[in-house]
Amino acid sequence: MPLLNIITIPHQTLRIKATPVALEEIRGLREFCNKLEKTMLAKDGLGLAANQVNVLKRIIVISTKDGPLVIINPTVSRKSIRKEISEEGCLSIPEVYGLVKRHRSLLVTGLTKKGEAIRLKATGLFARAIQHEVDHLNGILFIDRMKRLTRGTLPHENV
Ligand code: ZN
Repeated sequence: MPLLNIITIPHQTLRIKATPVALEEIRGLREFCNKLEKTMLAKDGLGLAANQVNVLKRIIVISTKDGPLVIINPTVSRKSIRKEISEEGCLSIPEVYGLVKRHRSLLVTGLTKKGEAIRLKATGLFARAIQHEVDHLNGILFIDRMKRLTRGTLPHENV
């Protein structure tokens, strides 16, 4: 299965808000979701959003301990008041790393690639990746939220 092509800045699609996926669309998007998973794995990413492969649909994939997890129409709620600062990178912004403040924990709801409802509590790196990917769906990049540039010497993940 060929991988999807990841676009990089200043590609316009990275700045456009993605459109929600209709329930009846999900079956037809199964192959795309599989490719999104494969592409994230091949690029060693912690997450990937559809915008990053030039598709304006609200679909993200996140790396979990059980493997890649696609979340369609992700909605974040119950964001913790507590925030954490850590280093982030992005497959669409090569060679750039910076410190970003994110909520420490949150609740994410949405649909799996099979169209089943999911509801997950996320903390730490998992919560960070979800916030980074949902930002992509809204045309927001981590460099917009970055406190300062780092040299990529801290442990980091590309998302
Ligand atoms: Zn990214």
